[in-house]
Amino acid sequence: MLVGVGRFGRHHLRVLKMLADQGQIILEGAVVKTPEKQARIANEFQVPVFTEIPIALLQKVDGVVVATPMDTHFSIVNTCLEYANVLVEKPLAMNTADAKLLESKARQRNRVLMVAHTYRFHPMVEKLQSLLGTEDGLPYRIEGQFVNPANTDSNENPSLDHLHFFDVIDFLFKKTPLSVHCNASGRAHTVSLRYPENMDAILKLGWNGDAKKRTLEFFYRDKSIRCDFIQNTIDVICGGENRRIEVNSTVEPLEKELRLYIQLLQGNAAPEHYPDAVVGSRILDVALKAQPLQTEHKPRVAIIGGGIFGANCAIKLAAFCDVTMFERNNDILGEASFVNQYRHHWGYHYPRSAETVRDIQRAMESFESLYQSAIVRNFPTYYGVAKDGSKVSAEDYVRFCREHNLPFTLEYPDPRYLDPNQVSVCLKTMEPIYDYTRLKSLVHSYLTQEKNIHIELGSNVIGGQLLADGRKELLVQSNGNSSARTFDFIINATYANHNTFPDWFGFPKKEVRIDLVEALIVRLPIPHISLAVMDGPFTNLVPTGENGVFTLVHIKESILKRFVPSDGLVPPGLQVSSNAKKIVEKSKEWFPILEQAELLESRYVFRCVNANREHDDARPSDITRHGFGCFSILGGKILNSVRVAQELAEEIRGYTSTPSAATPVALVNGFAQPSADLNVRRSLMDPPDRPQIVEDPQAIR
Ligand SMILES: Cc1cc2nc3c(=O)[nH]c(=O)nc-3n(C[C@H](O)[C@H](O)[C@H](O)COP(=O)(O)OP(=O)(O)OC[C@H]3O[C@@H](n4cnc5c(N)ncnc54)[C@H](O)[C@@H]3O)c2cc1C
Repeated sequence: MLVGVGRFGRHHLRVLKMLADQGQIILEGAVVKTPEKQARIANEFQVPVFTEIPIALLQKVDGVVVATPMDTHFSIVNTCLEYANVLVEKPLAMNTADAKLLESKARQRNRVLMVAHTYRFHPMVEKLQSLLGTEDGLPYRIEGQFVNPANTDSNENPSLDHLHFFDVIDFLFKKTPLSVHCNASGRAHTVSLRYPENMDAILKLGWNGDAKKRTLEFFYRDKSIRCDFIQNTIDVICGGENRRIEVNSTVEPLEKELRLYIQLLQGNAAPEHYPDAVVGSRILDVALKAQPLQTEHKPRVAIIGGGIFGANCAIKLAAFCDVTMFERNNDILGEASFVNQYRHHWGYHYPRSAETVRDIQRAMESFESLYQSAIVRNFPTYYGVAKDGSKVSAEDYVRFCREHNLPFTLEYPDPRYLDPNQVSVCLKTMEPIYDYTRLKSLVHSYLTQEKNIHIELGSNVIGGQLLADGRKELLVQSNGNSSARTFDFIINATYANHNTFPDWFGFPKKEVRIDLVEALIVRLPIPHISLAVMDGPFTNLVPTGENGVFTLVHIKESILKRFVPSDGLVPPGLQVSSNAKKIVEKSKEWFPILEQAELLESRYVFRCVNANREHDDARPSDITRHGFGCFSILGGKILNSVRVAQELAEEIRGYTSTPSAATPVALVNGFAQPSADLNVRRSLMDPPDRPQIVEDPQAIR
């Protein structure tokens, strides 16, 4: 007997009818909610249809299939188990206590209680099982999307209604998550799950956009395996090669599932992968934990690093978050945001990376809207292309600048500044610089205007971990004391220490190149002028906000150490000695004026860039989304800091301001639980009229 002939019950009825026609079962009837539907279904499927569960019939049948709205599962299954075995659509119940009750009732009555985790019977999952079985170890990350178009929203809870991939991971890896975190944005949940052995899964579930998406991607160190459950394809991508597997099956998953149920009713032994009530309870438990945290307070955000990127994130997030910015030094903007050449880049410096120029151009307006008064303009900036050894030719350089609308005139400065015999072309531009002191004072005033920003100086973050409910704990050392602090979101803006944070949390690290750079501060009796020799191991002289004071960085001689560390971390205890003399000597070959330079200071800084980008020297600013509400920023250029902060703030605002789901969820012991309202049992049976979901041909949602 089938109870419920709604959007998915219809598929059950179709397959049960087919099995009945084949003589595999006797289909005693179906139960619906209204007399109208009773007549319609009886006419369409030619089976007896009832509007109440007929108890006399229930006592007679071997098994019942329950495909009613999820909030009726408990009461209907509870009734049916008194008399018969049950296959129930997922989820088993609406809370773990009810699921456990059903589980123990089935055990006491010696009944089959199977939960329709149909993806276990999907040919793609069967193929994946054999494919992944040959891998050494676990993937370090799984990404998936189980999304239906927004206009098909059935008003259910995204993580409860679309819990299939929790089950697929459970089935494939036999693992239960240790930590579950969920952010809601509109009607979609982004669920992050941490499994044993640091296997993370980041799943987008719910209703969003126009397209239906069913994808799962498994990332291993040496390969990725990408599955599309709509196309029924699996791509194995390894070493630049893509091997495609087309997965076909003539038997639909629902039929396989129902055939297994029939075998169990006939007393056959249950196979290992059989989704019984224990599995159903386990998957329900994950889905219930995968609910957005409902907190009384504003979302608590920790920003690690008080450089220009961290500070701007704090400024942008303060409107709707409670922000704590940890800076290990006793002042903000003391490391790379201080030791650099203060160029307000327009793009001339990156003639081999259109990506970097685009990144700069789309960031310009946002930065200038906040920091206009820190920008020093109206002095000439010359870019010469070296005659010998340049990675870009004079023609290509000029073409690149024209193509990217970078204004210039072809003009040389006084030969005392730049030796014209050594360059094949020279462009005069009006690229500005920042005045560091004014920039810092503006940042400081924005930060202190916001009462939601707590700046903790002299606070070194030394560790961290994910908590079971998806919140994050940071270990902070300050004034010789350590304390553990808990946050909803974390932004890692530590630049050279970029990989320390993922190291604590077991997230994949970024492959970075780290340079220890010596930047010289020199005094020269000349007006503001900026000089650069492109594009290779040459040199740069750039004015600062202070008249007659310049930064001098030689692309080769200023690099005291360079490494791509295998662990991604800054090597401890480096000992270096100054190379200032050689930096000046080698730079003089280009800029004769340096004869008059007075060396004021050597400043040392770690530069951190994406590894393996020597070919184009690209410096975009990127955001890594680790999942679990954790982000890392690798800042390429100072002017990107506001755009990156805005992008992150918009993303976090999306997660925090929208109602998460139609299903209300409350917290119990730190975990989200459906509210009491959800446990109001509806009598029976069919789903209310909802927007029709376009069903998969293979009857699997
Ligand atoms: C030699 C050189 C020249 C450059 N020239 C230019 C230029 O002309 N124009 C331009 O736009 N860009 C330039 N850059 C790039 C620019 O400096 C960086 O992109 C930018 O400063 C990065 O800012 P940030 O906030 O990410 O890093 P930072 O300013 O380094 O800030 C990171 C902060 O994190 C703190 N921190 C780290 N670990 C912890 C922890 N565990 N706990 C608490 N605090 C922590 C650090 O103390 C630091 O203050 C240059 C870079 C270098 C190295």
